[in-house]
Amino acid sequence: MIESLTSPQAAAVWCDQQRQAGLQIGFVPTMGGLHDGHMSLLYHSRAQCDISCASIFLNPLQFNNPDDLATYPSDIKQDIELLTQAGCDMVFTGTLAQFFPDVDDGRNIPCLNPGLAGKGLEGRYRPGHLEGVVTIVDRLFRTVGSCNAYFGEKDYQQTLAVKGLVGQLHACGININVIVCPVIRESSGLALSSRNQRLSTSQKPAAAKIHKALKRVKIAWRNDNIRDPNELESIMRAELDDHDIVIEYASIRDETLWTEHLPEDKLSRPRALIAVYIDNIRLIDNLLL
Ligand code: AMP
Repeated sequence: MIESLTSPQAAAVWCDQQRQAGLQIGFVPTMGGLHDGHMSLLYHSRAQCDISCASIFLNPLQFNNPDDLATYPSDIKQDIELLTQAGCDMVFTGTLAQFFPDVDDGRNIPCLNPGLAGKGLEGRYRPGHLEGVVTIVDRLFRTVGSCNAYFGEKDYQQTLAVKGLVGQLHACGININVIVCPVIRESSGLALSSRNQRLSTSQKPAAAKIHKALKRVKIAWRNDNIRDPNELESIMRAELDDHDIVIEYASIRDETLWTEHLPEDKLSRPRALIAVYIDNIRLIDNLLL
């Protein structure tokens, strides 16, 4: 039976007990609205760790758009049921006040700086988003303590920002091993996302074009030997040309060093990243070329 805890304080006690028993903890942070993408993180955790836990916290700090927060799918009962079926040992939730007991005014929580990972793309188009992510993930890591933490490659820039926390936590005696897991997709190629629930049947073909654009640009890099990042961007934009799609970005970064803008040096491990709106639903995806 899954242990369902309603405060970070209770979760911290549970995690300490597991560690004292010599067990390696796997941790999957989520915002709920769970789908097979989240479950894949849990399966990786279960395969690699002795005991697995997840958090469900719809973090208001990372929503720069209040409508996005208001329409974000949330069904805690169903989420706990899915985690139970997937063999999760513990799930915890919490409130902002519980996560930040040291901050008197819950509306003015000081956010951490995601550093270079917070510059460009998500940093540019969702100001404050990655700051909100690292601020809550830092609290989640301090709650769970030393563990393997599982994140999805779908939120590539987020994984960079989260990895940036690890050094600071290590200095506090908390050892976090961040493990990035592959993107789980629908058969159309569309990356699973909690926001997909809001797509109508008629919007789905447009949404599937995101992955088509990523695959197309991979071919351009691999088979057509196109090396100019501007040209690679244009190829994605052409594939995304659709009256239902508003492109926020379709861009290239190099994995060897995150840059705010398009890399100026010769590309060595390029990754294509896309964010679009379909109606008012924001979708992101990326692919290593
Ligand atoms: P979220 O609940 O959206 O904050 O996501 C929680 C975790 O699930 C994050 O690490 C995401 O990157 C990951 N995730 C979301 N969608 C997918 C997906 N389609 N495949 C793999 N991981 C995912």
